[in-house]
Amino acid sequence: MTGIQVPAKFGGLGHKFSSKARIAEILAAADFGFAMSVINTQNVAQKLCRDASPDLVDRYVPAILTGERLGSTALTEPHAGSDFAAIKTTARRDGDRWLLNGSKAWIINSVASDVLVVYAQTEPGSGGAGIAAFLVDGQRDGFKRSAPFALTCPHSIGTGGFELDGYSATDREMLQPPGKAFKAALSSINEARTYVAIMCC
Ligand SMILES: Cc1cc2nc3c(=O)[nH]c(=O)nc-3n(C[C@H](O)[C@H](O)[C@H](O)COP(=O)(O)OP(=O)(O)OC[C@H]3O[C@@H](n4cnc5c(N)ncnc54)[C@H](O)[C@@H]3O)c2cc1C
Repeated sequence: MTGIQVPAKFGGLGHKFSSKARIAEILAAADFGFAMSVINTQNVAQKLCRDASPDLVDRYVPAILTGERLGSTALTEPHAGSDFAAIKTTARRDGDRWLLNGSKAWIINSVASDVLVVYAQTEPGSGGAGIAAFLVDGQRDGFKRSAPFALTCPHSIGTGGFELDGYSATDREMLQPPGKAFKAALSSINEARTYVAIMCC
């Protein structure tokens, strides 16, 4: 289930979106939090297969498919939810690398995930146009997990946050550049709205 939409050539099941939605519906009938956790992990594997360089796919996707590593997608910040363009996490050029600084909140799986797609602002003041998507490895220096949020339910969703303090990312770890990342994120939110509604039903 960690590779529902991951193409078969990368070891996944290669299903369509409609199949993912149906699987999510069945899993959510038993445990909504668990279903969201699995779907969010599979979404990261799927995104890496689509947007990452082959070496990054080899490094991360097999470990996600076996469930050794969990994935998260991190847009939201303590002060920025619906207004995603207002995020304050920055990505600053430093030689041939990017330095990421900021805090994320309300991130599914963040209690244990360490393969994260993180959105950051490369040009403060530019709104959505300056936002880029980075692959962040939670086992590297500069990543600090925060305590999970205390929810009445569902605990298996593992929701919390993390801090990036001088986290260093390579050029290749920029999954989507400014100009593309914001639009791509909104497009995946449209998909999420669909399967979350199905899961709630
Ligand atoms: C269980 C859970 C899991 C989550 N998982 C993730 C995750 O994995 N990754 C991630 O990035 N984020 C995640 N989120 C965060 C989620 O995306 C945000 O909660 C959402 O974007 C809303 O932001 P907010 O909570 O700050 O509410 P706000 O943006 O403050 O909105 C509060 C209320 O005001 C309304 N509102 C806001 N702006 C306007 C406006 N301009 N006009 C009219 N009404 C408005 C909203 O509809 C809402 O009713 C999660 C949240 C929860 C609760």
